[in-house]
Amino acid sequence: MTPVNSLLAATTNPGKIREIQHEWTVGGMANVHILSLSDFPGYQTPTEDQTSFIGNAIIKAVAAARYSGAYALADDSGLSVTTLGGAPGVQSARFAGSDATDEKNNAKLVAELQQLPQDTHPAAYVCVIAIASPDAVLATFTGRLDGEIVLSPRGDGGFGYDPYFFIPQLNCTAAELTIEKKSQISHRGAALRAAINWLRENGGRLP
Ligand code: IMP
Repeated sequence: MTPVNSLLAATTNPGKIREIQHEWTVGGMANVHILSLSDFPGYQTPTEDQTSFIGNAIIKAVAAARYSGAYALADDSGLSVTTLGGAPGVQSARFAGSDATDEKNNAKLVAELQQLPQDTHPAAYVCVIAIASPDAVLATFTGRLDGEIVLSPRGDGGFGYDPYFFIPQLNCTAAELTIEKKSQISHRGAALRAAINWLRENGGRLP
C-alpha cells in the first residue's frame, strides 16, 4: 500500500477541479495534492464510447493513470429523464449534436418534453467517480440527485441543465442554488464524499 500524496483529476474543467479541491479540503484531505490534466499538456483524452456513466468514468480514470503514472480520479455525469427513457444519459453533453452548447441542449430537451402527454418529468442527475492506479481500477462511487424537469427556466447559477432541473424539496431549480448548497446535495458532491470516505477508511493508502 502506498500513501496517496497526489491525485490526478482527469479533467481540464476548472469548475470541476474547484469542486474536487473544495470537497477534498472540507473532507480533511487537504494534504492530497490535486493535479489536473493541465499539468500533462501532451495528454490525449480517450474516446468515451461506453453506454454507461460507470464505463466512461473507468475509461477516463485508467487512461489518465496510465499516462501519468499517478493515481487518477475521473467522473462521468449526466441527466436522466424518466419520460425520455433515461435520455440524454451518457449523451448529456452532446444531446443537441457535436456542436452542442448548454442552450442548444436545453432547447432540445424542452422541445422533446413538450411533445409528450405527461405534465411532470421526473429526472435525476447521476455522477460516477472512478479511481484508478496505473495498474488497475480501484473503486467506483455513484451519486444521484432526484428532481424533475420544468419547461421554463429559473435561476442563472450553475451550468448545463440546471435552470430546468427543479428540486421539489427545496422548491427551486439547481440554477437558483449557491455553489456551496449545490455541492452539499449534488450527485457530484455525494460521489466525491463517498470517494473521500473510502480513501480515509484506507488510511490514505492505496494498492
Ligand atoms: P461530463 O461529466 O463532463 O461528461 O458532463 C456531462 C454533461 O451532463 C454536462 O455537460 C451537462 O450537460 C450535464 N451535467 C452533469 N452534471 C450537471 C450538473 O450538475 N448540472 C447541469 N448539468 C450537468
